[in-house]
Amino acid sequence: MQTFDATRFFRGDLSDFLPYSMGHTPLAEMDNFIKLDLNENAYGPSPRALAALKEMRHYNRYVGQEELREAIARYVGVDAAHIVTSNGADEMIDLIQRIFLDRGDAIIDCPPSFEMYGFFARLNGARIVAVPRREDFSVDVDAIEAAIADCRLPIADSENLKSEIGNLKLIFLANPSNPDGGMLTRDQVERLLALPIIVVLDEAYAEFAGTSYAARVPTQPNLIVIRTFSKWAGLAGLRVGYCIAPQPIAAKLWQCKPPENVNAAGNVAARASLDDLDYLMANVRRIVVERERMARELAQLGFLQPFPSHANFILCRVIGRNARAVYDALAARGILIRAFGAPRMREYLRIAIGRPEENEAVLQTLKELR
Ligand SMILES: *Cc1c(COP(=O)(O)O)cnc(C)c1O
Repeated sequence: MQTFDATRFFRGDLSDFLPYSMGHTPLAEMDNFIKLDLNENAYGPSPRALAALKEMRHYNRYVGQEELREAIARYVGVDAAHIVTSNGADEMIDLIQRIFLDRGDAIIDCPPSFEMYGFFARLNGARIVAVPRREDFSVDVDAIEAAIADCRLPIADSENLKSEIGNLKLIFLANPSNPDGGMLTRDQVERLLALPIIVVLDEAYAEFAGTSYAARVPTQPNLIVIRTFSKWAGLAGLRVGYCIAPQPIAAKLWQCKPPENVNAAGNVAARASLDDLDYLMANVRRIVVERERMARELAQLGFLQPFPSHANFILCRVIGRNARAVYDALAARGILIRAFGAPRMREYLRIAIGRPEENEAVLQTLKELR
């Protein structure tokens, strides 16, 4: 068996699979950096969440998710039957694709967008219909409508209409959007919801924007809203996400998800976070105030053009100099921000909003580059 080559058993369509491009900082070095690269919460988890993690004595047990589901339902203001919990928003993206996509079915992605939509689509053997955002990162709804009309596959119409490309079933849009921080207009959302497709709004940053489409879900059969505790509640490392879905979709997701997908620590910390909203939302407000200050200060540097953001980060176009050089100058001071590999994003940098002193360090370093 020494010559047995297991790699020949791999799925053929994964031969050129692109891994997710995010880099990680080793835990032991975490405190040596100002980490503004992954849109994490600089204030950390709530003290109640940390206390609950410490007090919990049942990590030897499998823990159900019904109480978490009900606590989230109260927070969102919908019936618990609409809530499905997941191992971070990332897993929810995968679960949604898995219950809808047959091999060859398609999703619409609007790049530049959150990478995991395409990552899971490729992993799930789905096709990706790319409808690029406009130069200002706004979503091109005309082009989305045209792409769906082109496919001529309204699923409800006829079983005989299934073409060789499969059905176009899902569209994923982050709102606020990552990497640019922009929001869909009401009119755009209404036009999308009128299409014969399931609209997945990824509201990972909703708490920073102060608006959500979650309340619409119970009366809108083709809308799914994804949320997470990673950004506003500072639990990125504990992996707790969820969706608000129409009841039949939520039931199918609940039935198909791994039963212990949210681990006991994440479960306990998420519930304690929902009991500490005043504390966490005060931090969200601090981040929003700093975001507005940073947008003004970054624009005054002369070589950065910040985009209006409703999230906890700011995307900047770098004018008249090399974005990589700016990234390297910050990295040399231990400040990590996000640069991008995609050709269209080479002139851009994304900077998360940290605590005021961290943001000040960013500004000081950038001022020295003027
Ligand atoms: C960070 C992020 C996520 C991932 O959330 P997790 O709950 O940590 O998996 C999902 N969507 C968008 C748009 C994000 O920026």
